[in-house]
Amino acid sequence: MAEPNQRLRIETLAVHAGHSVDAATGAVATPIQLSTTFERAADGSYRSGYVYSRSNNPNRRALEEAMAALEGGSDAAALGSGLAAASAVFQALQPGDHVVAATQTYHGTAKLLRDLFVPWGLHVDFVDMTDLAAVRNATRAKTKLLWAETPSNPLLKVTDIAQVAEIAHRAGALCVCDNTFAPILQRPFELGADLVVYSATKYLGGHSDVTGGIVVTRADTELFQRVRLVQGSAGAVPSPFDCWLVLRGLRTLPWRMRAQSANALKVATFLAGHANVERVHYPGLPGDADHALAARQMSGFSGMLSFDVKGGREAAIAVAAKVRIFIRATSLGSVESLIEHRASIVGEDPRTPQGLLRLSIGLEHADDLIEDLAQALGYGSVGEAVSFPRFRNTGS
Ligand code: PLP
Repeated sequence: MAEPNQRLRIETLAVHAGHSVDAATGAVATPIQLSTTFERAADGSYRSGYVYSRSNNPNRRALEEAMAALEGGSDAAALGSGLAAASAVFQALQPGDHVVAATQTYHGTAKLLRDLFVPWGLHVDFVDMTDLAAVRNATRAKTKLLWAETPSNPLLKVTDIAQVAEIAHRAGALCVCDNTFAPILQRPFELGADLVVYSATKYLGGHSDVTGGIVVTRADTELFQRVRLVQGSAGAVPSPFDCWLVLRGLRTLPWRMRAQSANALKVATFLAGHANVERVHYPGLPGDADHALAARQMSGFSGMLSFDVKGGREAAIAVAAKVRIFIRATSLGSVESLIEHRASIVGEDPRTPQGLLRLSIGLEHADDLIEDLAQALGYGSVGEAVSFPRFRNTGS
């Protein structure tokens, strides 16, 4: 590997961070250490530093080191899901503390705050984080965290991370950024954020086969030490195999983000010109209201986009019913493209238009995806409505 102070480029870091040739066997691929417990020497010491796998284990440590390196942070904590990662951050606060969260935040994070952490004693205000005056006004003496999520789910609204971080710091609080939609492309620490949170279930894993979450910290703060305490003591930890899968996903992450962003831009451009499409939400489009801000703080615009089908709910459901390559499923960030009628997943929510379809663009050829959407959208009126499950309320 490189000299300790040689600055490696992100693609190189992604391939090598957290990996080393196994000293015992020479294995190039990282071994999976399933052991839940580690041997003590006769003098009572632990030669590897590992004691018990809830507290720490080699695969989790490798993933945490890789994520800290990739993000440019000082440390990371891996949890069992994206929401377990968010919970660890909220649990690290004290009852009575105040959190300002984005109204644009993922509905599961909002539900977690409302249903679990408000009864537990956190004071939470949801504000539109694209309105910086509203963010400023929402801070109080007891504000400990500003929780931003950008681009947002599912409308791809972009929040100015540098401005929100500045407001947080002036208020004596920390800025957390849920960067799930734009790993690699958006570098929240360079913009002033203090913690970066991910659902590793999405782009980091990248193959729809592992659930995970990560909290990365810029510095060794007291708050992060409490996140570490929550990780080991509350115990919502990922298995060694889960960590191994995410670590493997990281190796191709920069290239996947680049290719999925390029595909998404082509698909968004096609949709923007289609007669049956009312509106496309994608900050990569030059005409998008958030394009200038996104171009400033992102090096690519991600593979996520959404669009409003003309004709509303039934027309959108009919389009989703006709696709052949896209898979009708929730979640995002994997190599296969997914389509989702968002309103039937999140339930009644005025912020999710009934005619909205969310796309997670994968690694297929962009022309195949465009042809698939073209046949599903039709060239004139959209086809007949079909039945579709409503309000399952489990979507991600
Ligand atoms: N953050 C964002 C932006 C998400 O989209 C999701 C899930 O979709 C989560 C967090 C929660 O992640 P998980 O499903 O891994 O708990």
